[in-house]
Amino acid sequence: MAQTATITLLGGKQITVPTGLFINNEFVPSVDSNERIEAVNPATEEVLCSVVAASPKDIDVAVSAAREAFKTTWGKNVTGFERSRLINKLADLIERDAQELAELETLNNGKPVRIARDFDIGDSVQCLRYYAGWADKIIGQTLEVDNKSKLAFTRHDPIGVCGQIIPWNYPINMWSWKVAPALAVGCTIVMKPSELTPLTALKLSELVKEAGFPPGVVNTVPSLGSVGGAALASHLDVDKVAFTGSTITGRKIMEAAAKSNLKKVSLELGGKSPHLIFESADLDQAASWAALGICYNSGQDCTAGSRVYIQDTIYEKFVKTLVEKVKAQVTGDGLDDKTGGGPVVSKGQYDRVWGYIEAGKQEGANVVLGGTKRSGKGYWVDPTIFTNIKQNMKIVKEEIFGPVLSVGIFKTEDEAVALANDTSYGLGAGLHSNDANQCMRVSSALEAGTVWVNQYNILNNNVPFGGKKQSGIGRELGSYALEEYTSVKAVHWNFGEKLEWPL
Ligand code: NAD
Repeated sequence: MAQTATITLLGGKQITVPTGLFINNEFVPSVDSNERIEAVNPATEEVLCSVVAASPKDIDVAVSAAREAFKTTWGKNVTGFERSRLINKLADLIERDAQELAELETLNNGKPVRIARDFDIGDSVQCLRYYAGWADKIIGQTLEVDNKSKLAFTRHDPIGVCGQIIPWNYPINMWSWKVAPALAVGCTIVMKPSELTPLTALKLSELVKEAGFPPGVVNTVPSLGSVGGAALASHLDVDKVAFTGSTITGRKIMEAAAKSNLKKVSLELGGKSPHLIFESADLDQAASWAALGICYNSGQDCTAGSRVYIQDTIYEKFVKTLVEKVKAQVTGDGLDDKTGGGPVVSKGQYDRVWGYIEAGKQEGANVVLGGTKRSGKGYWVDPTIFTNIKQNMKIVKEEIFGPVLSVGIFKTEDEAVALANDTSYGLGAGLHSNDANQCMRVSSALEAGTVWVNQYNILNNNVPFGGKKQSGIGRELGSYALEEYTSVKAVHWNFGEKLEWPL
């Protein structure tokens, strides 16, 4: 079967998308399997094409390619300047193809093309350029151990072959967050995109080749998580696995790493992030940020601000403003530039999110917005807001990963912090207040890897991101991500001491 498919973009433009496994800079069939994965448009339920699904044997082939490149053309064999040049070139090519990539992302993931282009891809280009800047600045330390005859120094070596397993909610963005720091320090990569959204990762692989990366440096192997993902996590020749996805899968990955070769693991997992609105806040602004917190990416966001708690003195007024703000978002055709929200990604996700909405109703929460299904094709969930919630309700405790917001009430600052921290997760948290001392106290008390004050969901490539509690291990972005892909070697150097033996 041909290793390409033709996809029709906006205005009838047709593009060719590779559908094979990308190994050693070539798109190839599986070595031993005929399994394929269908890519579906969640707005229409139409099958766009199918791609080769990697088997465990294919994972072996991809890992060998990555190992060979690490030993010969990449790793310590290429200068930081050259790594930087190639990563910058890749960023330029993604920028050149931004509109095409955005439309492909919209077709396979559902998110509006404007958001995919201006946010996901814009941020990805910047992420690559940020790490291109680091590539020639990977430095260790020189340590004095004896003034006259010895010194020690450290080298931050690339850790080796990295398995990278990413989810479907930000296919291009998660690809960039993972690939950029790994390439900057000299690692090679076996990337497993989500089985729901493999197309842009394959299209990006074409650009990896065009940029001039040597064969085997980046390999892309779409596969089911339980097949290709599990094979990568337990592979004896993979030195590190970087994962973004659900907490339940994160546990499996850590277990597989522990039981195989104790590879280094970083995990970016789920969340149930709280958003606190204090009475002194700019209420209109706070409502806009709270709306963004739950509507962005149709709530399919690991930091979705899915629990909003409001001080009792402003509760009624704030709920009213919040409902108006959420209503203002246009959810619909992602190919239209006015659209702010698309469908959820798949039938599975659609059933899951509606299951939570039904559970919320049954547990006695009040629906103040949304909560009814649309008719017709597509996996649509209009933003839904629940009030009258209790901490033990499913919609308050569990990650929904859809545009479903629980709104609660508090009297005191201590109560607000206690409600916010009453979760096994610790990814993001937000607070709105015009009292600077309160902002400082509360941001310090919130148990989360990222706290936003008077804003929400804004990330920067130079600022670390990651979770506390069951939201993850390790950090992405910023200089912190470099530590995830390097291994520190200490070299002890004797230039004078004579050993008097025996002691
Ligand atoms: P998921 O855990 O089901 O899948 C994520 C990836 O893991 C996919 O590529 C999948 O194929 C793979 N996978 C599945 N089972 C596997 C296994 N046994 N071994 C190895 N790999 C396996 O998650 P999802 O449904 O794709 O994504 C949604 C979840 O991701 C949400 O829970 C969300 O909170 C989380 N997420 C977290 C962040 C973050 O930065 N913390 C970002 C995005 C998404």
